[in-house]
Amino acid sequence: MLTKATFILIDFLAIVDIFFTVNALGRMKEDYARYLSYALKAAVVAILANMLIAISFHPAFAEISYALYFASINWIVLFLAGFGLLYTEHQTITRALTKPAVVLIGLDTLSLAGNVIFHHVYSVYEKTDLAGIVYYQTVFKIPYYIHLAIDYTMLFVVLLALLYRIRKNYSMYRIKYVLILAVLLLVVLMNLAYMTLELALDASVVFYAVAGTLIYFCIQIFVPRSLMNVAIGRAIDDMNEGLILFDLSHKCIYANAFSKVRLRLDTSEIGLDREPLATILKSIRERGTEYGQEPYVTRIENENGQVLEMHYNFRYNELTDVKGRSIGSYFLIEDTTENFRHMEEIRIAKENADAANQAKSSFLASMSHEIRTPLNSVLGLNEMILRSTEDPQLKEYAENIRASGDALLGLISDILDFSKIEAKRMEVKPAPYSMHHLLRDCYNNFIQMAGEKGLYIRIDCDETIPASLVGDVKLIRQILNNIISNGIKYTKVGGLSLRVTTSAVEENTCDLRMEISDTGIGIPEEEIGHLFDAFRRINEKENATIQGTGLGLTITKELVTLMDGTITVHSTLGKGSTFRVTLPQKVADAAASGEFRLHEVDSAKNQYHELFHAPDAQILLVDDVSMNLKVVKALLKKTQVQVETAGGGLEAMEKCRQKKYDLILLDHRMPEPDGIETFKVIRTDGLNTETPVIMLTANVVSGAEEEYEQLGFAGYLSKPVRGEELEKAMAGLLPKKMVTYV
Ligand code: ADP
Repeated sequence: MLTKATFILIDFLAIVDIFFTVNALGRMKEDYARYLSYALKAAVVAILANMLIAISFHPAFAEISYALYFASINWIVLFLAGFGLLYTEHQTITRALTKPAVVLIGLDTLSLAGNVIFHHVYSVYEKTDLAGIVYYQTVFKIPYYIHLAIDYTMLFVVLLALLYRIRKNYSMYRIKYVLILAVLLLVVLMNLAYMTLELALDASVVFYAVAGTLIYFCIQIFVPRSLMNVAIGRAIDDMNEGLILFDLSHKCIYANAFSKVRLRLDTSEIGLDREPLATILKSIRERGTEYGQEPYVTRIENENGQVLEMHYNFRYNELTDVKGRSIGSYFLIEDTTENFRHMEEIRIAKENADAANQAKSSFLASMSHEIRTPLNSVLGLNEMILRSTEDPQLKEYAENIRASGDALLGLISDILDFSKIEAKRMEVKPAPYSMHHLLRDCYNNFIQMAGEKGLYIRIDCDETIPASLVGDVKLIRQILNNIISNGIKYTKVGGLSLRVTTSAVEENTCDLRMEISDTGIGIPEEEIGHLFDAFRRINEKENATIQGTGLGLTITKELVTLMDGTITVHSTLGKGSTFRVTLPQKVADAAASGEFRLHEVDSAKNQYHELFHAPDAQILLVDDVSMNLKVVKALLKKTQVQVETAGGGLEAMEKCRQKKYDLILLDHRMPEPDGIETFKVIRTDGLNTETPVIMLTANVVSGAEEEYEQLGFAGYLSKPVRGEELEKAMAGLLPKKMVTYV
């Protein structure tokens, strides 16, 4: 009785176990989980049948219970087969086999039911064990083996599917099928053992329950976990970085393939005292830190016998558990060879670019020099014609020469400015200036050009504009000049209006707003976006007769940006364009500058008139080009100054040793010694250590101005030298008592 009670208790426990597993399976969405759950439900029937067999008191009762038992085992196997096929992703086969299998198992179930009447599958006989307890055993007949064949065929199909999966899958995924296969094999072997060894039924039934639970744990917990472990291990091995883990006693517990292959280390011999780890640790500790990173360079020979330099970055860090407790340390090794090569390439490319830029700068400097030098003579001599002739025809020719010369000069300046901006060497030098002066200058510069085309220039300046603003007036003038000259160039009738206002002064700062509108040809809408692109000209063909490089507005935009300002354009084709420039300016004197008045333009403006007379002034003029000496001397004729000339640096030095001059005009580029060397000698030797020296130069590339200033030159004039500018510069430097303004 005791054994029977134990069997029943075990059966009962198996049912409880199945209950929980079925419940858990219910939460899984996959089809195979549903099949496994059916198998377990069938197992419950089998267990109940088993309990009935145990408590049977009559052979007929036992026979019915056995029929129920054998049938339920059939259904368990059917559902296990379905599970196996679905788990191995054989959905199509499952769908095809389900119906025939259900029919087969149904027929087998009917045959088992018929056994009660026909006894054709098995018969039951009574047995008494040693303790005297009566129980019933079965004797199998031929049809039982058909029943078994059905069961084993189904299991065989699943085993094949599992084996196929194991073979086909990458090793990492094999594990999940191997585990299921192992459990299923156990089921098969157990069944076989039961039949051959006549084991007590309960063991077999309970085993189904345990197998179901095991399979459930396999698919839910063991498989994902071991898959994760395998996957992580594989991923770390495949990593393009090295990882070496050490425990607290500095014993290596793991080194991935990268570390072993690249550093040629063996896990068993990796220790913190091994090279290169030891050297790296030493460097880190020398910096006073426990952990840190360190670069490492090594040379390896590739299969072609080439020696390659490999760069690595070793990072050494503490290894902690989830609670932050130290459990060891690790090295993370990064291959930085590619980065290093890229940096090298960038460095070389930068060096080349710098060299090319340097070459460009010196090319521009010499180009500027080469063009300006002859232009100096052309414009200087032309100026002499303008000053001396009364013949209107000749005067017109000379005016045309001046206009073309000016255009050529503008072109050189544009190209030089552009290269300065490109090289980021354009600087903003703020100084106080008067807006009224600036506007008057602009007006005077352009009124003649506009007048020749029959265009007007109107200037409207807000009365409240601060009397003194602080900004780079040279750059602002350049911006205005570019926009105004374009306005005149691209306008046929009407004229230009220039309107200037400022925002309210706040914290000594205000926004200067300049609006230049013309009534010209306008700009097509689609071109406005490209207006500031370098070298881009609109309607190139139609405007071919208008001089320009397409650089003016590019430079303008850059200058505005350089001064943190903005520039916008509105234009209507055929009606005209409006350029609006806003520049933040500091305010030196916030008092309103009042009504803007244009000085009467001197109708005889083009008639030259000298600025001053200084008949006692002694000037030394130094230039290696005799034509230049002639030009400057002629330009200064009316000022009555006494000009002595020197054809080179050595001659100038000699003269300076013998005589004290009031002013020296010195050319820069001369054959040895050049202007700067000559200047240095004059400053230290002879009678002219204090005499102001003005540098005359065709070298107007970036940085030149500052360089002259630093060297101690009193002034700097670019060639071609204009008579008026030269006089202005000299008037301020000659001793006051010698100068009489006219
Ligand atoms: P460019 O030296 O050709 O004048 P800019 O950069 O100054 O070069 O101007 C670029 C182009 O923009 C010009 O070629 C011209 O077609 C157009 N443009 C500039 N200003 C005006 C304007 N006020 N009216 C019409 N078109 C203009």
